[in-house]
Amino acid sequence: MLAAASASADTIVLKNGRRIVASNVTEDGDHITYETPAGQMSIPKSIVERIDRDNLGYSSAAGASSVPPISVAAVDPARGYEDVAHLTVHDNAIDFGYIAQLEGSARSGGATAVEKLAASHYAAAQFLVSKGDTDAAIDHYRQALSFAPDNLGLLLNLSALYLRESQFTTALEPLEHARRLTPDSSPGAADIAKLTGWAYYGANKMDRAVEEWTRAERLHPDPEVEHALEKAERDKSEEESYREGETAHFALKYNGSATPDLAQGILHALEDDFRDLESQLDYTPPEQIGVILYTEQSFADITRAPSWAGAINDGRIRIPVQGLTSVTPELAHVLKHELTHSFIGQKSHGRAPTWLQEGVAQYMEGRRSSSSAGALLDAANQGAVPTLGMLEGSWLALPGNSASMAYAWSLAAVESIIQAGGVSDISHLLDHIAAAPSTEDALRDTLHENYADLQQQTITYLRHEDVR
Ligand SMILES: [Zn+2]
Repeated sequence: MLAAASASADTIVLKNGRRIVASNVTEDGDHITYETPAGQMSIPKSIVERIDRDNLGYSSAAGASSVPPISVAAVDPARGYEDVAHLTVHDNAIDFGYIAQLEGSARSGGATAVEKLAASHYAAAQFLVSKGDTDAAIDHYRQALSFAPDNLGLLLNLSALYLRESQFTTALEPLEHARRLTPDSSPGAADIAKLTGWAYYGANKMDRAVEEWTRAERLHPDPEVEHALEKAERDKSEEESYREGETAHFALKYNGSATPDLAQGILHALEDDFRDLESQLDYTPPEQIGVILYTEQSFADITRAPSWAGAINDGRIRIPVQGLTSVTPELAHVLKHELTHSFIGQKSHGRAPTWLQEGVAQYMEGRRSSSSAGALLDAANQGAVPTLGMLEGSWLALPGNSASMAYAWSLAAVESIIQAGGVSDISHLLDHIAAAPSTEDALRDTLHENYADLQQQTITYLRHEDVR
């Protein structure tokens, strides 16, 4: 997901200390006029302390962290044991007594008893996945594997869940075991290579990812793999000549036109941002996050992003840095924004809606709605603001002006949530989104409101923020 690049931003500092980041700031008579994402605004010059001009022109950016689209392996441990599955999960609950009973039989031996137990744990795990509880599902797979360590279906489904949780290195363990058990000629071999490719891709090991997906394509052509392979090959050939840098939480790659000083500065800023987001969102991404610095042209070539894109986050953070030699304030905003997307994507298992992704990312980078509050309220009065339900999916199809409105409205909604209950409400909401059937369900569980309530709360919040 991409955001329109904003023109150079100026900061209007009001006498009451409030700061308005805006573009095209002009003075006429006794008014200051400026552009906000939601339209043109005008305020009396008497309330303005000063205007800080910023001509860097670095675009603010957007993105969405993506968990790879993993279609779970076709090997089904419950095949032939449908009765076991039905006895394990019934009346919308797991029958733990039944599982314990099967475990008793499995302990006293017998291959069939073990297969039945595997089928039972598999059914329980599938049920938990459908409820969004990946962690509990992983526990069931691990318990089942302690009885049936060579069950291919269990190994593949377990690794797919690790991938969903961005635990790429951990996912490799069951996959390597599965590889040892499975000759190339058997049906599971292509799935093993496909999932192993995702694990390496997530762990920023492009060479190995390309190797695995090439193998998967040879064993069993699959459009999902073909697309992923094409992308990984582009990354691999571009990054071959890149230098590398690494910190505890980041693996950075950059080409010759970026200076080592800039790379160091970016890593330093990202580590600071990481610590801040870790405590604010109460979450720690389990693996190093990949960051790639590009010159403008290679950025466009690699990401296939439209020319107005600032930076993108497709699981790896990709940033154009042409001409920069140090971390400018604008670049610092972009880094925090993109890193926030990585945290949200992983914490919500890729299920956070776009409005929440972009609202929180803008909030964390330091944007506030005060500059656009008046214009947003006007738009709301005219019925021109989108519903949050409309802003759940991709924004790429939105026409230019609606995209600006979408960003502004999402930020305001997130600010209103944080004002009412603190950032911890965002953290809880993300946890629930990972598990709930829908965002609105998660909203009801955590904040006890639906989209209409939140829309109203946002308007009330903006009335307080309106500087007019
Ligand atoms: Zn964004």
